[in-house]
Amino acid sequence: MDIKPIFDKKKRPIIIAGPCSAESEEQVMTAARALAAQNIDLFRSGIWKPRTRPNCFEGVGSVGLGWLRQVKEETGLKVTTEVAKRDHVLEVLKYGIDVLWLGARTTVNPFSVQEVADALQGVDIPVMIKNPINPDLKLWMGAIERIYKAGITRIGVIHRGFSYHGDSNYRNVPRWQIPIELKRHFPDIELICDNSHICGRRDTLEKVAQEALDLNFDGIMTEVHPTPDEAWSDAAQQITPAVFKGLVDNLMVRHASSDDAAFKHSLGHLRGQIDEIDNEILNLLGARMQAADKIGEYKRHNNISILQPVRWNEILEKAVVKGQKQNLSEDFIKVFLKAVHQESINHQGKVMNQKGVVSD
Ligand code: PEP
Ligand code: MN
Repeated sequence: MDIKPIFDKKKRPIIIAGPCSAESEEQVMTAARALAAQNIDLFRSGIWKPRTRPNCFEGVGSVGLGWLRQVKEETGLKVTTEVAKRDHVLEVLKYGIDVLWLGARTTVNPFSVQEVADALQGVDIPVMIKNPINPDLKLWMGAIERIYKAGITRIGVIHRGFSYHGDSNYRNVPRWQIPIELKRHFPDIELICDNSHICGRRDTLEKVAQEALDLNFDGIMTEVHPTPDEAWSDAAQQITPAVFKGLVDNLMVRHASSDDAAFKHSLGHLRGQIDEIDNEILNLLGARMQAADKIGEYKRHNNISILQPVRWNEILEKAVVKGQKQNLSEDFIKVFLKAVHQESINHQGKVMNQKGVVSD
């Protein structure tokens, strides 16, 4: 695939901002004028809003496209909005919208993605694709492929976090490994962080935006509203243009690489160390699994179940305490050990259920 950039390659970070929803001509124009003064790269605003429950504000519809056209004419800003079906695409093209985006609830549904892709056949317009609501990398990749197959070459992606059932500080948990993995499959695709929908609140927007830039994201998309408390959708996460300016000014832009010889030397040295350590970890894990295989043989011999809950609890608790002394987070220790434990169970299961071995 030969995916082309949407934005100017030389300018980083890419800044996309604007209200969650277009509400009135005045609200859209006030936001756009303030953001044009900050030289943003693209003005966003939802026209059709996918709402979880009916009877919420579902967007102003096509009348708002006229306001976006006015933004273009008056401020010179490029504009983008969400499309989820064929009719949206046709409307958006009539009004000369510059960039389209597919929302999380569209990416999750291959029928909808295909409908949008079919409507885009033969049209040359950039499209940004948000991740699906659930942490399924393949759905995200599938949406990119469907849009690309329709002949669209300028494609970007937006990471807006993933739905999570349970306690969390995020509205949608970032699971950074998923966009990182996506980038491995599509190395040249521009990757934007939608910190607003990840955070769902104002006080963490800057931290998440910085985390994204530290991970080499190309830019951010943030919801900005002239009077956020009065917003008709996503009020809790929207910020004023002035607060947004502060956020952008504070961001530290990281570079993908450096030509500095001393830096390269130290980095090379540390990477060598990391490679060696990773190697050691793998060798140790191999040895751990050999021990698990032996245990499996003893258990088979004595007809004992694989899972020993008391022992497993002990391992986990001890490891959390030891891990903390090594500056390793409890979350990490648990995820890591659970994966190791599962692999041990799989090994033991294989040994215990080997066919053709006489159980002696
Ligand atoms: C939005 O950008 O306003 C929106 C609806 O986002 P998402 O599709 O990420 O929920
Ligand atoms: Mn929103």
